[in-house]
Amino acid sequence: MTEGTLFKIKKYALHDGPGIRTTVFFKGCPLSCRWCHNPEGLDPRPQTMSRRTSSGEIHETVGIVLGVDDLIKEIEKDVLFYDESGGGATFSGGEPLAQPQFLEAVLAACNHLEIHAALDTSGFAPPAVLDRILPRLQLVLFDLKIMDEKQHRRYTGMSNRTVLENLKRIAGSRTPVRIRVPLIPGITDGRANIAEIIRFARTLKTVQGVDLLPFHRIGGEKYRRLGMTDTMAEAAPPMTERVAAIKHRFESAGWTVSIGG
Ligand code: SF4
Repeated sequence: MTEGTLFKIKKYALHDGPGIRTTVFFKGCPLSCRWCHNPEGLDPRPQTMSRRTSSGEIHETVGIVLGVDDLIKEIEKDVLFYDESGGGATFSGGEPLAQPQFLEAVLAACNHLEIHAALDTSGFAPPAVLDRILPRLQLVLFDLKIMDEKQHRRYTGMSNRTVLENLKRIAGSRTPVRIRVPLIPGITDGRANIAEIIRFARTLKTVQGVDLLPFHRIGGEKYRRLGMTDTMAEAAPPMTERVAAIKHRFESAGWTVSIGG
């Protein structure tokens, strides 16, 4: 039986694609973005998290191993909400493409049940994996972080070459894509990076819109609870005016833009 490792299943999600959705968070990611607000999604295995309580420190496991049928049963519970709102299921993480067999089997079941399926991805995966997954998707939410290869490697731990090639691959298919840009002050929100993202995205035909994701500190506490170092602990969210100016630049390029997904 095909099984996958997840760290969260979020019901009634409103920012991970159209309508009311169930978002499934896959555990494990090949990148290590400094600003990641889901550090429990990086390691592919279940982990122990500590929590301080009034009666002392307790330990809890984050991450569950689930079979395809069990996950589908969970997703299917809200099918009436999906039908009413034009929603569905979104597969996020971590990086769902890092568990390709499980993802493909879950998507096949969603397709069979006519549940709208979206993939929220970093785009870092072998092209052959993407080719198998892509025909099963109705929407891709694609993170585009840093266009300069050296800077991408510096802040995410990996080159962006595969990421950009995969985005071109998706845009060459029939699957619509939304570009998601994390706005990390001093790292991704510089004029040159935003200009290069706009230039690149304009060469792609199936980009439906842009989601700007301003940096926030929610989730910072999880680093401590996992025994990890939060290198962005002192960073502040971007100024509202800065976010508005970037939004305007994307809108001027012809896209509808949302803030926060
Ligand atoms: S790609 Fe997403 S999940 Fe992976 S490290 Fe970066 S922000 Fe975190």
